[in-house]
Amino acid sequence: MKNYSPPTFLESVDANFTRAAKVSGLPKGLLSQIQTCNSVYQMNFPVKIGNSYQVISAFRVQHSHHRAPTKGGIRYSIHVNQEEVMALAALMTYKCAIVDVPFGGAKGGVKITPWKYTEEQLEKITRRYTTELVRKNFIGPGVDVPAPDYGTGSREMAWILDTYQTFKGGEIDAAGCVTGKPVTQNGIRGRTEATGRGVYYGLKHLLSYEKDMAEIGLTAGMAGKTMVVQGLGNVGYYTAKICQDEGDAKIIAVSEFEGAIHDPNGIDIDKLFKHRKKTGSILNFPGAKNLKKREAALELKCDILVPAALENQITMVNAKKISAKIIAEAANGPVSTDADAYLREKGVIIVPDMYLNAGGVTVSYFEWLKNLSHMRFGRMEKRFNQNTYSMFADSLEKMTGKRITNKERSMLTKGADEIDLVRSGLEETMVTAYEQIREIYKRKKSVTDLRTAAFLSALNKVASDYMNMGIFP
Ligand code: NAD
Repeated sequence: MKNYSPPTFLESVDANFTRAAKVSGLPKGLLSQIQTCNSVYQMNFPVKIGNSYQVISAFRVQHSHHRAPTKGGIRYSIHVNQEEVMALAALMTYKCAIVDVPFGGAKGGVKITPWKYTEEQLEKITRRYTTELVRKNFIGPGVDVPAPDYGTGSREMAWILDTYQTFKGGEIDAAGCVTGKPVTQNGIRGRTEATGRGVYYGLKHLLSYEKDMAEIGLTAGMAGKTMVVQGLGNVGYYTAKICQDEGDAKIIAVSEFEGAIHDPNGIDIDKLFKHRKKTGSILNFPGAKNLKKREAALELKCDILVPAALENQITMVNAKKISAKIIAEAANGPVSTDADAYLREKGVIIVPDMYLNAGGVTVSYFEWLKNLSHMRFGRMEKRFNQNTYSMFADSLEKMTGKRITNKERSMLTKGADEIDLVRSGLEETMVTAYEQIREIYKRKKSVTDLRTAAFLSALNKVASDYMNMGIFP
């Protein structure tokens, strides 16, 4: 592997697109329009840090305007570059189409190492970045709606909303200019965990197909499956926690920036999270062994490998050492296109990013709808449903002559809260999207993997939008 350099993230996305485009049967011009990035805004702005000024580079890319607004997260990382943001924006277009959320794809990036700045300095940078977006009309509830990504969270989203509102006083739908906000600031319950929970629902459904699992030597169901997780940030933590708590998966190794740990008996994710908070590291976790290198975790024998950090983590440098049966792409672009081809050939199931991590944008869509309707989900119907179910329970008691216990009654008569509806909508979305992808995968002979099937699902939907506009008859 001496002279090997992996394809860039954008090259991988383009290669994967081309593979699917070839079997799509769609006209060439239309495919070019779908593939191309419509708008790229690169900006540099000064921010006073301490006693001097720093010039910060940042981007916002709107990949496709076939639907409005465009939508996609904002990444804070020193590795941010135009190509990376373009690749991420393209994935957003396909992702939104796959899960039927009515947005075009977009992405933003600010080239900084966030932990090198104080909270106050980060606020300054975020507010200045938002100002640049407002100036160029690159943000707004009907224009382009950012969300969290690597290195950002609800705190940054709250600063973005406040800055936007400062410029757009009186705009009635202003809260819909950004999603992933704190619940107290027009956010929605369940958004923080949404990407990880979506990974859980997607994996659970995939694992439920007995025949598909038998083909790779696994039994159906998540319970007892061994799992390795790379990255214990937002996506990695919630994926691991929910797969462990609700799916009974066994997390045998975790890899983070500072190193990796392994315990074949299983690692309690919440205890590990607390341990990291206390000591600043996942290393030296009681009962687990520290691995020599953080990359070593990826090579452990396991049923499911979950890369949840960054792109290009599995390339031809380490692909031959991967011994997982399923790679669940919780991060965007973790497997380079050449490694993807090699692993597919070996019979590994790769669950593609643009499907599997779509839970974030799905719940962002719910948040945006909540902002536009100016009302919490469940507010109108919760009590009505509770009263109706209560009457049913009373009738049941009368008819059977048996008493329903208080516990049973409270379960039977519960009206749905916002969090229940968000989780229900998310599960429904992940299951339906997987059914559509699997149907293409099983039906179309020229499609031999889930990524190509996912691309085709997206391409057909985006193409039909363009055709409905009369642009490509
Ligand atoms: P995050 O910043 O919350 O967490 C990422 C974690 O990965 C950090 O703790 C970091 O230390 C760790 N990490 C970085 N490099 C690593 C390495 N080489 N080995 C091990 N750990 C490493 O970011 P996030 O929001 O969880 O995003 C992770 C990935 O998921 C990204 O690819 C992002 O684009 C994708 N994603 C995020 C969301 C979302 O809602 N946040 C939605 C869809 C996709």
